Amino acid sequence: MEYLNMYANCQLVHGANMSLLCDLQVHKFYHLPNDTFEVLQYLKQHSIQDCIAHFGEDNKEAIDSYINFVVKKEMGFIDDRLLEQLIPIDFQWDRFTPITNVILEYNEQLNYNNKFMRDLFDLNVQALEIRCYHHLPINHLLPLLEMFNDKTLRVIKLILPYDGSISLNDLDVVVKKNPRVKAIWLHDAPEQKVEKVFNDTVAVVSLARQINSCMACGEISSSYFQSNMELFSESQHHNTCLNRKLSIDIHGYIRNCPSMEAHFGHMEEVELSLVLQDPSLKKHWNIRKDDIQTCKDCEFRHVCTDCRAYLEEPDNIYSKPLKCGYDPYKNEWDEWSRNPLKQATIDHYELRSLVK
Ligand code: SF4
Repeated sequence: MEYLNMYANCQLVHGANMSLLCDLQVHKFYHLPNDTFEVLQYLKQHSIQDCIAHFGEDNKEAIDSYINFVVKKEMGFIDDRLLEQLIPIDFQWDRFTPITNVILEYNEQLNYNNKFMRDLFDLNVQALEIRCYHHLPINHLLPLLEMFNDKTLRVIKLILPYDGSISLNDLDVVVKKNPRVKAIWLHDAPEQKVEKVFNDTVAVVSLARQINSCMACGEISSSYFQSNMELFSESQHHNTCLNRKLSIDIHGYIRNCPSMEAHFGHMEEVELSLVLQDPSLKKHWNIRKDDIQTCKDCEFRHVCTDCRAYLEEPDNIYSKPLKCGYDPYKNEWDEWSRNPLKQATIDHYELRSLVK
């Protein structure tokens, strides 16, 4: 007897019409028919010979091709038994800090050297996204980044307006001085392109679209999908956009995300400890993709992020993100903003000027 042993980091996700095979170690995923899902699931507990007997000799060629695919992509191997040593991964998720990631909508008029900010970044926050909607000269950006020098941040993402006066060399200097800057997005650029700085290790992504307020946020695109252990395991239990996130909006107000309606006071007036005790901060943290209408049937649900700020049904916190154009029942992507059924909701959120 021969058996297909699949590595534990290769996870199958079943959707309404198609499935996904995620390789969480090498950060890849493969779109598969649901028939392939059924066969690979069956092979987790049965021999290849039993599988062919179960699905029928007529399907032998197809079954062999699925197995060859898994072996060729180094997601598994054939052996004379199912190896017990390939222990299933425990997808529990937890962190030792109440806030793991922060979004800062930067406003040059505000003073960020305050107690709230010091307390926040003393929590061992892991990731910071700094969004600049307006031009920020390099000699202002560098001191801003210096504020985080003695913090435990692992990743800083910069979102800056495209500015002909800031060269790739300037950005290279920014990253060399601040190696925790791992990604730079330039919005409102003349063309869409990806360049690299810091010895080709940090991507500088030029986006043709404008990001001039938090209303530009919440777009769901396959280019944002990520197949990794962190997102996959968090997604089993929590919301992949809002869980353990805190934001300081453009006016200095504290929100779960800058686009969410509720705020928890101004950073110069509130105590971080009181914000963290407020149960409404955590209202959306445990809404999983498996709880959300349509997303729960989508094969991409554990590689996709979420948005609870702009919903297809604004009064239903379990409805699908408004800015997603994927239909998991037809496996088709459409431009969400042209969907006739979404027009009233686009007006409700006053997004009309932002859509194409
Ligand atoms: S339907 Fe839901 S899970 Fe699927 S791509 Fe859209 S937002 Fe992501």
